[in-house]
Amino acid sequence: MEVRRALYCPLCGRAYEDTGKPTRCERCGSPLVVGYDAPTSTIRRLLWESRLRFERGVWSFFPLLPTRQPGLSLGEAWTPILRADRLGERLGVRRFFLKNEACNPTGCFIDRGSAVELERAVEAGARSVVAAGLGDLVSSVAAYSAAYGVQASVYTKRGVEASKLYSIVLRGASPTLSQSVEKAVERASRVADAKAVHLILPYSPGLLEGYRTLVYEIVSYGLTPDALLVPVGDGLLALSICKALSELEDVVKDLPRVIGVRVEGGGSEVGLSELVVERPLALDVVRRLVAKRGGAIIEVKPSRVYRALGVLASTTGIVADPAGAASVAAAWQLAEEGSIDRGESVIALVTGGGSRDPLLLLEAVRAWPEASKALMSLDESVPVLSKAKRRILEILAEKGTMHTYAIWKQLLSEGIKLSLATVHQHVKSLEAEGLITQVGREGKRILYALTTRGYEVLRQSQ
Ligand SMILES: [Zn+2]
Repeated sequence: MEVRRALYCPLCGRAYEDTGKPTRCERCGSPLVVGYDAPTSTIRRLLWESRLRFERGVWSFFPLLPTRQPGLSLGEAWTPILRADRLGERLGVRRFFLKNEACNPTGCFIDRGSAVELERAVEAGARSVVAAGLGDLVSSVAAYSAAYGVQASVYTKRGVEASKLYSIVLRGASPTLSQSVEKAVERASRVADAKAVHLILPYSPGLLEGYRTLVYEIVSYGLTPDALLVPVGDGLLALSICKALSELEDVVKDLPRVIGVRVEGGGSEVGLSELVVERPLALDVVRRLVAKRGGAIIEVKPSRVYRALGVLASTTGIVADPAGAASVAAAWQLAEEGSIDRGESVIALVTGGGSRDPLLLLEAVRAWPEASKALMSLDESVPVLSKAKRRILEILAEKGTMHTYAIWKQLLSEGIKLSLATVHQHVKSLEAEGLITQVGREGKRILYALTTRGYEVLRQSQ
């Protein structure tokens, strides 16, 4: 089955040459997607056949992917679609389904895209890649790079969850931390240019094309819900989903409307940094694409997202990342407002659940009274911490990873005036007590992060 492919802009339709580099439309700034010259009958057959070869992961959708041949699979894609009756009843939606993307190899939908983008890199002759993005993205790229034996240098923002950072270094990738994702993207682009290395950015075509297999899977099961709820961070997943739906217009009747879910706030909420993106790359594009499909982008409060985590876990057993549960929070809100009819069928995408970060889980427990009560009833001894040491633990819990100098600066900015030497001593003693640990270096400075024991002590002393 030979399928010709070309890059184009999903907004204005302008065609572009596929140079292997992540590029955006010169006219409207939209990320570019891949057009496939495949007749409807081919797509229909592929939808049917894909289910029979699910063990190929994302490659069960080849040749409708932008590579010359199928690549490696780590078991991504074909995540469960669960009918969640107890949850639906609780939220007020009778036919409620979850597509659980936490079942992907690194616990996130991004694996679908990494599989495709790494194959593209290898087909272009790459032995190493440079990638920039949020923690989930670079962690996934590190995983597929490891499987391909490709050296990955990954750039992400400071404060990335410790659990993700550990996974990245375990996978053999070398991380660099920047002040923001934008800075990380700039640095990575410079390095890739200078060294002529394959560059992976959040809008790389391989990533976007891989994400859209999610829609193909739903449709291949004969499921056509009334609404599809999608968390929106930078908007690229929602963009891919809209693109996939438009490809299926002539193949399937009654495609769902897409509701994009954003979380209100400035990004300071624990665990929501993957969703609260200050300058979302594709938001305007997505707003237009979603509107075309009869949907909209709505906002939910962080507090509701955390409560939704508790409802989700206590009615289905699924523990998701906060960002991953935003779609469940949205279903709840829309059902309350009457924007989703009780009789409508809804699929909510749970986009990830891989972090298992103690601080995130603790935040979810706090928002869920039953769980909170159960935890507080445990009788555990609380070690005594000095005010300064306790604050250092809290700062590390909030920021993820830091060196002593940055901790000292942070304390100063809060009016806690200690000498750098004293802070250094505190850090050493916290390390000796096993509450924090060295996780890497930034230049000559040692980076520290909380240990599980550190989280535990912090929790108990509150
Ligand atoms: Zn355009």
